[in-house]
Amino acid sequence: MRIERKPTRLVRIGSIAIGDGRPVVVQSMCATRTTDVEATTGQIERLAAAGAGIVRVAVDHAADVAALARIRARTEVALSVDLQENYRLAADVARWVDKIRYNPGHLHHHEPETPWQDKVRRLIDAAASGDCAVRVGVNCGSVDPAQKAKFPDADSIGPMIASALEHCELLDSIGFTRYCVSLKDSDPRRVVAANRRFAAQRPDIPLHLGVTEAGMPPEGIFKTRRALGPLLSEGIGDTLRVSLTVPNDRKQEEVEAGLQILADVAAGRASAWDDAETADERRGLEIISCPSCSRVENEQFVELAAQIRQMTQYAAQWPVTIAVMGCRVNGPGETDHADLGVWCGPKHVRLKRGTEPVGSFGYDEILPRLKLELDWLIASGAKQKIEPRP
Ligand code: SF4
Repeated sequence: MRIERKPTRLVRIGSIAIGDGRPVVVQSMCATRTTDVEATTGQIERLAAAGAGIVRVAVDHAADVAALARIRARTEVALSVDLQENYRLAADVARWVDKIRYNPGHLHHHEPETPWQDKVRRLIDAAASGDCAVRVGVNCGSVDPAQKAKFPDADSIGPMIASALEHCELLDSIGFTRYCVSLKDSDPRRVVAANRRFAAQRPDIPLHLGVTEAGMPPEGIFKTRRALGPLLSEGIGDTLRVSLTVPNDRKQEEVEAGLQILADVAAGRASAWDDAETADERRGLEIISCPSCSRVENEQFVELAAQIRQMTQYAAQWPVTIAVMGCRVNGPGETDHADLGVWCGPKHVRLKRGTEPVGSFGYDEILPRLKLELDWLIASGAKQKIEPRP
């Protein structure tokens, strides 16, 4: 069964095409070290065998670029590269991949004196000369600070949409139309609202759907379904990823979950899911965890996320958000919006209370310390317990 699609422009990504009524493409991302060519190629092939049309790989430095060239030689799968904040690597990687993903919020980390428009032009030059498509990937945890400053309501989805729209305008003005956009948030309601609003303003642009830091299965799958079900049912979305915190040997579960969501929407089963924009606001304790990527320096991260879920069960009725991130690079920013945040280094785990650092702890020390923080937060009265419905 097919899902009725809204007409968007066609974007070719290697041998794959999205938009213009094409079937929705499920994609995934490698979490292996990019420099481990064997492991990364193996994971790409397993994800493709599970049904992924596009697989993303992250690059951080020159060694990753060299590895990407070797990976390209070993696989035919359509590859997307995640530049994280290293937009300067675009020219080096473009010839090895089919799509470049950049995050508008990350363009401000290096060369702050250079206007972001110049950085995008460089990036687009690289994409065009490498025959690559582009994704403008806006993420709630790293929105362009200039856009954030324009919206006084801290919870507004306005900065995400404004950032995406201004990048689209620039790309259009350059004459580069081979791009799609994503607007990801860890809250499914905000994903629905942001994508609906963007699609109403730019119905021509293909959308990549996803919930960022959805967490571990099954909660991460439920959360993603609540966001993607209503959107896909309305014909919004041309490609999607279900981001799950799972060990490397289970990464294909992201693809299986994505295909299941599509099958359910096509069969009309999504109507039974909550519309995330109007769903019950009374949510209890929530663990937000990243899906991991090549930046993870200690694979205990995935296990730690599961241990935190287990340890915090006693506080399930308290509306507390705990963010668990896999690396030192994005961890500090991506935990800012949570009540408590941890991010993982090679030997230590950093703990935060809101935006305030608490300290650095060993992997064997972090659980009791986090529990202490959670107990203090509950005892402080800052959160109101959610009583079960009568
Ligand atoms: S937080 Fe770090 S490890 Fe996790 S997905 Fe983002 S970049 Fe990768």
